[in-house]
Amino acid sequence: MAILTLDEQSFIEKYGPSLNYEPPGGWVEQQDCTLVKTHCCFCGVQCGIQLKVHENKVVGFEPWEEFPVNRGMLCPKGVKRYLQNEHPDRLLAPLVRTHEGFRQATWDEALDRTVTAIRRIQNQYGRDAFAMLGGASMTNEKAYLIGKFARVALRTANIDYNGRLCMVSAGAANKMAFGVDRAANPWSDIPLAKAVIIAGANIGECFPILTDYVWRARDNGAKIIVIDPRMTPIARTADLFLPVRPGRDSALANGILHVMIERGWVDRAFIDENTIGFDAVKELVAKYTPRFTESITGVPAASIVKAAEIWGPAETSMLLHARGVEHHTKGVENCLSYINLVLATGRIGKPGSGYGTITGQGNGQGGREHGQRCNQLPGARDIENPEHRKFIADFWRIAEAELPRTGLTACEIFDAIEAGEIKGLFSISFNPLVSIPDANRTRNALNKLDFFGCIDFFLSETARHADVVLAGSLQEEDEGTVTTGEGRCVRLKQAVTPPGNARVDWQILTDLAARLGCKDYFPYAIADDIFRELAAASKGGSADYSGMTYAKLEKNMGIFWPCPSFNHPGTPRLFEGAKFHHPDGKARFYGYEYRPPAEDVDAEYPIFFTTGRVVSQYLSGNQTRRIGPLVDQYPEPLCEMHPLLAKKLGIADGDIVSVQTRRGEIRVPAQVVKTIRPDTVFVPYHWPGKKSANLLTKRALDPISKIPEYKVCACRVEKVAS
Ligand code: SF4
Repeated sequence: MAILTLDEQSFIEKYGPSLNYEPPGGWVEQQDCTLVKTHCCFCGVQCGIQLKVHENKVVGFEPWEEFPVNRGMLCPKGVKRYLQNEHPDRLLAPLVRTHEGFRQATWDEALDRTVTAIRRIQNQYGRDAFAMLGGASMTNEKAYLIGKFARVALRTANIDYNGRLCMVSAGAANKMAFGVDRAANPWSDIPLAKAVIIAGANIGECFPILTDYVWRARDNGAKIIVIDPRMTPIARTADLFLPVRPGRDSALANGILHVMIERGWVDRAFIDENTIGFDAVKELVAKYTPRFTESITGVPAASIVKAAEIWGPAETSMLLHARGVEHHTKGVENCLSYINLVLATGRIGKPGSGYGTITGQGNGQGGREHGQRCNQLPGARDIENPEHRKFIADFWRIAEAELPRTGLTACEIFDAIEAGEIKGLFSISFNPLVSIPDANRTRNALNKLDFFGCIDFFLSETARHADVVLAGSLQEEDEGTVTTGEGRCVRLKQAVTPPGNARVDWQILTDLAARLGCKDYFPYAIADDIFRELAAASKGGSADYSGMTYAKLEKNMGIFWPCPSFNHPGTPRLFEGAKFHHPDGKARFYGYEYRPPAEDVDAEYPIFFTTGRVVSQYLSGNQTRRIGPLVDQYPEPLCEMHPLLAKKLGIADGDIVSVQTRRGEIRVPAQVVKTIRPDTVFVPYHWPGKKSANLLTKRALDPISKIPEYKVCACRVEKVAS
């Protein structure tokens, strides 16, 4: 059908974002409020916070000092997150598209229209022609329910989630190296480390509260090494900064390991007893001398040696990485190359020693465990494993043959829509028009769909292309759990009920399931019913929650999985006693030769283009671009560039520059800073429309994780106005 769309930029210019928003009704006296202990709705640190509630409105917050992870501290996003609850842009009722645009509808009309479209498309084109997309900022309960809804009610294989754009390279690498996908250590091990490597993780802006852990390590005498093309805030306080050329991490890790082997800073007894594959890696890295590594990475040979000198002989150590390493067509290879540095020292599974990948989304960890990935069943089970399939099919009371097999990943779903193979899409809290690379292709794909329905709380840029928008719930409007970046499942408490005619997301899904004839499979009265089913479904899986209950989570301020029985305390630190989760109990080394990015710089496009986050914004900005003080802090995307590059291009700070790649062009102000490599420019990706960084990025995927290469492509930059 024809889709009426508003150009995103003109929408923003016309309607918002709503700046300098203050709570309606002004400030409320403390004694008139109740305090609800819950968690921040943004990054994977999941800081504890007390929301201040007055007359079913979130009107402020208080620190929750007893919650051990953040001990009352919050970053700018956490401090301002309460301003979203009463925001005037909040969706209050379902919307359906007409030829004039959207109009409000009853729930019956909106849900029936959705179900009719699902039936029509699946009858005409097959079940897999209707796809579903979930998100990793939502609760574990919703992640479980979305996976079950797709497999049992829609019976489509094509279900994936926006964590595919985020943590999947690390997840795949963790499984390959350790046999389980979770950070190995609690954050509380960071201050006990004597050496810390932070690779591709802008901790100060993306996970700000973790900065405190790194600084406590430094206060305890640790040496901090930061690897990044940009001298991020955490890098500015590091002992050693390695300004790696974008897309060269695996080579750099190989170079550091080369020096460690040469100097004898490997634990041969640990390697022989507890790992497989070291000798092949040793052979591979033999040629990665400091000079050779410098020639690939741009990091001075002396700095590579210095990194090995700090890391190799350290008494205890933690290696942390995030999207800077993972957002590549060799994201899995990069992660595994860094994991080699940990395994070679044998410093893992001990206090102050180990490894972690810092999850970006609020439920980046739990969102990838409960079955909303195209290749996964609850409990982090493998959808192609016959035993896993049988367990879940029996648990769901369906025939194993009816359980769909591996489907397409998030970006592949959009490729299939473009190709006309997928005709219908239903998504929840996913804003692919801003977040998927090559945004013009994403827009064309959305406009090609026969039907697009979504659940959201604000009308995102993607939702504006929908036929039906179902007004769902904000985090504080529902009960549930999330699992933090350290593997700690924590309890979210409902502070208020959804406003107007909006509904809790999981109730919308169960209503849709009932209308699709599957009521008996979704018999939930409260969120706890879903959690108890999720926990039981995870029993025996690698992400085992079966010993958790809501009461136990609250009493303990979270529990680390695996927690396989009700009297089990949970497992904060994995691999104690060097017990890894492969069947033979051994960890795996994987060695990779460096290979270039999907699109490297050349004479035509001579500058590296890289993207990332800023402290005041979160992901596609659907929430944070509506919170006035956060918008004020960083109102629009800037193109960060080094003074040397600026001088060469005749650009001054504040000039409007055109940044062009083979996929598109954006025009944004230049920000001239000394904290970036002179061969690289950086633009944050939180904005839509004509300033969207993802108009420029390339939709090239890692062959294993299928994550897109957000962190490197080739661009050219020129001044267009002073
Ligand atoms: Fe904490 Fe992250 Fe929220 Fe900041 S955004 S308050 S670091 S959970």
